[in-house]
Amino acid sequence: MVERDWAVVGGGMLGATLALRLAAAGHRVTLFEGAPSLGGLASAWRLGDVVWDRHYHVTLLSDRHTRGLLRELGLEDEMRWTQTRSGLYGAGRLVSVSNTLDYARLDLLGWSDKARLAGTILWASRWRDGASLEERPVEDWLRRLSGSRVLERFWAPLLRSKLGDRYPEASAAFLWATIQRLYAARRSGLKVEMFGYVPGGYARVLERLQQRLEEMGVEVRLDTPVKEVRQVEGGATVVSNDGEPALFDRAVLTLTPRRCVAMLPDLEPGIRDQMAAVDYQGIVCAAVLLDRPLADYYLTYLVDEDLPFTAIVEMSALVDRDQLGGHGLVYLPCYAPVSDPIFRRSDDELRRSFLDGLARVHPEFEPSRVRAFRVSRVAEVFPFPVLGYTRKLPTGTLGPDVHWVSSAQIQNGTLNVDETVALAERAAAALIGSDGRESRVPA
Ligand SMILES: Cc1cc2nc3c(=O)[nH]c(=O)nc-3n(C[C@H](O)[C@H](O)[C@H](O)COP(=O)(O)OP(=O)(O)OC[C@H]3O[C@@H](n4cnc5c(N)ncnc54)[C@H](O)[C@@H]3O)c2cc1C
Repeated sequence: MVERDWAVVGGGMLGATLALRLAAAGHRVTLFEGAPSLGGLASAWRLGDVVWDRHYHVTLLSDRHTRGLLRELGLEDEMRWTQTRSGLYGAGRLVSVSNTLDYARLDLLGWSDKARLAGTILWASRWRDGASLEERPVEDWLRRLSGSRVLERFWAPLLRSKLGDRYPEASAAFLWATIQRLYAARRSGLKVEMFGYVPGGYARVLERLQQRLEEMGVEVRLDTPVKEVRQVEGGATVVSNDGEPALFDRAVLTLTPRRCVAMLPDLEPGIRDQMAAVDYQGIVCAAVLLDRPLADYYLTYLVDEDLPFTAIVEMSALVDRDQLGGHGLVYLPCYAPVSDPIFRRSDDELRRSFLDGLARVHPEFEPSRVRAFRVSRVAEVFPFPVLGYTRKLPTGTLGPDVHWVSSAQIQNGTLNVDETVALAERAAAALIGSDGRESRVPA
């Protein structure tokens, strides 16, 4: 193998894992990250007197790629696992949907509808060929499997919570992938799925990851947004905010397609158009620190549609009290495209409407219990799962020495760290195996 100089652009979990694998294969690697710390969507921030993840993150017992990485970082043994409970808020009532008995009691649906719902979930958890569902509109698929009533009362609000009013444009592969993830534990021989975290949260994971990257000789350049990447004779040049073009043998961009397009002036027009057409769903997510935990549900599904957020995620129902200084930590996410007016609402407006919404679901909640409130806005989180998604993805090269590996290439899967680490590992193997001459990432 010829030792090469690689530039990896983007220090999220994808770029950081890719850099680690390239370095482990004996290459010199420079990792460019625009923010002051690694992690991107998985990064941590300070909320009042607590440092925890900017967005809620859990690891599943069945997340073998994430757990493999954590093992390498010496953190897997410390993971804490628990079985969490879930709630469902609909028709003005909050009920538990944590087990089969709870579902049996659910009065949102009658008995025959419940049987069809269970049949749909069972069918989707056993079906292997997600690609075949990419051309199937999710509504048609659900209407056939679950019936119109279950679609309207149960599935439609849940789909709307992730995809907005455009959900009928989505393919059945999206919901199939979500169900597959939730049932992965059973398929892998584990009896029950559990949720876990590393004490200290992603702040600790990322600190250890950066340490390992540096031990492996990776030059980690934080606060260094890349402005331009060009294919040149004998390699690729990278221009960052701090100066002259730097020459590398190979460059890999790990960003969303539109961000890549913006930094590749020489991109072939056909590929540029295909990349620019990959449409992303964004998020406005409030993190609320409370004087004490709120309830016992890690995730509360919302089927009442006039709430300002699309789910309630209570981290303090998963994480031990010592991790959060005895506080409650609740995330209120609202998934929406960046063109949605919610992206232009001020923190104060969001605070008022989100806390009102929280009090509707939990009438005993008092705003005086809030110790800190912070809002994260991200324009691009996951690609909208349009019909024929994979068929529409760009397949050409960006240049012989310029490659693109991105969350957009997660096919028939949901966006999560496990898929991201798996993608980085497949991409690294393909790039190392072809000496950076093959840019297609095996699905
Ligand atoms: C609300 C929410 C909840 C989630 N919950 C979970 C969960 O429970 N479990 C789970 O496994 N996963 C979860 N995820 C998904 C997980 O966060 C992602 O799968 C993963 O972090 C994606 O990593 P990435 O590297 O592909 O992208 P990103 O994290 O977006 O990384 C891209 C990086 O590139 C950097 N960058 C951008 N432009 C430039 C530039 N010009 N130059 C240099 N650097 C640049 C960014 O700063 C960023 O660090 C969640 C995500 C969200 C948003």
